[in-house]
Amino acid sequence: MLFSWLRNRRRRSLLAEPFPPDWLTILHEIVGHYRVLSEADQAKLRAAVRIMLAEKQWEGCRGLELTDEMRVAIAALAAVLILGLEDFYFDNVQTILVYPNEYVVKQERALEGGATLEEESDRLGEAHYRGPVILSWAEIRQNALEPGYGKNLVFHEFAHQLDMLNGAFDGTPNLPTGDLATRWGRIMGDEYRRLQRAERRGQETLLDPYGATDPAEFFAVATECFFDAPRAMQRVYPDLYAMFCDYYRQDPAAWQEFETRRD
Ligand SMILES: [Zn+2]
Repeated sequence: MLFSWLRNRRRRSLLAEPFPPDWLTILHEIVGHYRVLSEADQAKLRAAVRIMLAEKQWEGCRGLELTDEMRVAIAALAAVLILGLEDFYFDNVQTILVYPNEYVVKQERALEGGATLEEESDRLGEAHYRGPVILSWAEIRQNALEPGYGKNLVFHEFAHQLDMLNGAFDGTPNLPTGDLATRWGRIMGDEYRRLQRAERRGQETLLDPYGATDPAEFFAVATECFFDAPRAMQRVYPDLYAMFCDYYRQDPAAWQEFETRRD
């Protein structure tokens, strides 16, 4: 109680300061999503960026020197997911680790008979329960500059963080009403199985086939599509789209069209 009172007071004084002009330039030049939002949503996003830059620990990995461009772009994209939520700024995420590119993870896998196998895999990002979000900047910069392809690493990893708020990594985040929970179970189940069938048959799908891995990945992949190719998602998956509008309390298909800029 005292903690949240202090935190809210700190946030109010932070938001009373003018928004740094350099950061505004970054939003306009790097973050394609910023330009398509309404003025009211742009103001909410700027507030979220300030709060996330001030409250999270940001660390560059493998020699990456973090710049304001990186921090502002990442926070802005994460903020897109929470524009409809009241007073929530991913308080469950304390640390954001940024790699320059894909990074290699060593994992040990237990084999039968007690042996372990060390495996290496290339990764773009990860989200840990009550732990850091790990991201690679090269991918994010491209996602930020060229929206509209239904892919966005920041949306993906921060969707996992929303999913895990209730302690379970299962594609079902906290849902405010019983009605939404009932729809969620039915529609997510149907669409997840439909994506799995399409993947088995090798059919092209709007949703990334990686979403067929498990329900948590399905939620993250569908979130990427919802915010990055909203009109296509509304056309191809109308029920899923409408349900996500109710969960995120946003209607991204009503945004202006993205204009894609290239480097
Ligand atoms: Zn994932």
